[in-house]
Amino acid sequence: MLKLDVCIVGAGPAGATLSHFLHKLNIDHLLIDKSEFPRDKICGDGITVDVLNVLKRINPELLEKFAAQSEMLPSWGFCFHGPKGQEIRYDFRDADFPVAPFYTARRIDLDDFLIRELPENGSGRFWSKTELIGLKRNSEGFEVRLKRNGEEETIQSKLVIGAEGEKPVVTRYLGLEHFREKEHLLAAIRIYYKNVQGFHPGDHLEFFFDKDLLPGYFWAFPLSNNEANVGLGMLSTAISAKKINLKKMFEQVVERNPYIQPMFENAEALEKTKGWGLPIMTPKRRIAGEGYALIGDAGGMIEAFTGKGIGPGMMSARILSEHLESAFKSGNFDLSPYHDHMYRYYQSEIKHTYRLQKSLKHTWILNPVMSLASWSALTKYAEDRMIRDFLKWL
Ligand SMILES: Cc1cc2nc3c(=O)[nH]c(=O)nc-3n(C[C@H](O)[C@H](O)[C@H](O)COP(=O)(O)OP(=O)(O)OC[C@H]3O[C@@H](n4cnc5c(N)ncnc54)[C@H](O)[C@@H]3O)c2cc1C
Repeated sequence: MLKLDVCIVGAGPAGATLSHFLHKLNIDHLLIDKSEFPRDKICGDGITVDVLNVLKRINPELLEKFAAQSEMLPSWGFCFHGPKGQEIRYDFRDADFPVAPFYTARRIDLDDFLIRELPENGSGRFWSKTELIGLKRNSEGFEVRLKRNGEEETIQSKLVIGAEGEKPVVTRYLGLEHFREKEHLLAAIRIYYKNVQGFHPGDHLEFFFDKDLLPGYFWAFPLSNNEANVGLGMLSTAISAKKINLKKMFEQVVERNPYIQPMFENAEALEKTKGWGLPIMTPKRRIAGEGYALIGDAGGMIEAFTGKGIGPGMMSARILSEHLESAFKSGNFDLSPYHDHMYRYYQSEIKHTYRLQKSLKHTWILNPVMSLASWSALTKYAEDRMIRDFLKWL
């Protein structure tokens, strides 16, 4: 039977990033994914500075390679559009940044890039078409049951890392409680389009706060080849309370919103609407314990306001790699310190994004004074989070 030190379940950005760091640390590991790569993942495809930061930490050349791919579109700014057409726009084309502050990349390309760039002869291996179907603790760690290319196989691993995305399997097989409250879940839909017009010349990420969508928002992000990723997302509690059908809401917003409608005059949808859940960060969710840890969406690492999860997922992998290094040095495989580290790291992000989300809930429609309060909360968010993150990194 194959015996190894770490088994990572799921090869999205979180799992693949952990594999990169374990290669650097020379820790023996196996990365598995039930899909065959390249594979799609429903997402907004917006790449934020934390992704660039982690790529650079893995290896500065990896960041350069990423930026050189023709599928990755540099995006030089972003804009928040208010319900009455107000705009908070930031354009960084004249700033002296070494690379663009944002990118867009179809997930089929980004995730495949991260897998393709894994070292060939390092301390790990990647098995695609391999699904986790069972886990049992034993004296040496875990007996891991897999279905690989349709055949069942059992391996032994000292540690198991859940990076399987939004639908938890590791905690389920371990019989652990997995915190999944609707108030900590967003739901969102995505549609790829062709010929969406009116994007800024700097290929900005456009966020629209339509009054019927609050506290959610509509996005339109330009992609390479004159395509665009368009979608909308909202808190699950708001969807249930207002009995919202996201697909219908999307169609209505495109038809009726005077700032969005002109962008779609000649646009052609390339696919049917696709939806997925976004588990948002909350310290109430336990993400590590004896012999196991959760990273990325499996640990609910999505930022509550924008729905950004690629960067935090990759950052959670980077932080976990430090704890794995210590665990293998000390022989203590209780990974709880990673849980504390993650929530300490994201403490202020969690506080501010929940507060911002609450402030947007009703205020736009109540009265002009309140809507001004929302606008300044958004400006503060843009300046504190999205811009300073980049400046800090330089
Ligand atoms: C509509 C939408 C828009 C979004 N927009 C953005 C955005 O613009 N920017 C951003 O940063 N974030 C965005 N997000 C969030 C982002 O998509 C996620 O946070 C991100 O994909 C998390 O990466 P991950 O590696 O944790 O999980 P995933 O990318 O979901 O990868 C998990 C992997 O695990 C595999 N897997 C699952 N079960 C098993 C099993 N039993 N055995 C083996 N393998 C398994 C899956 O095949 C998959 O490949 C959006 C999400 C949605 C739904």
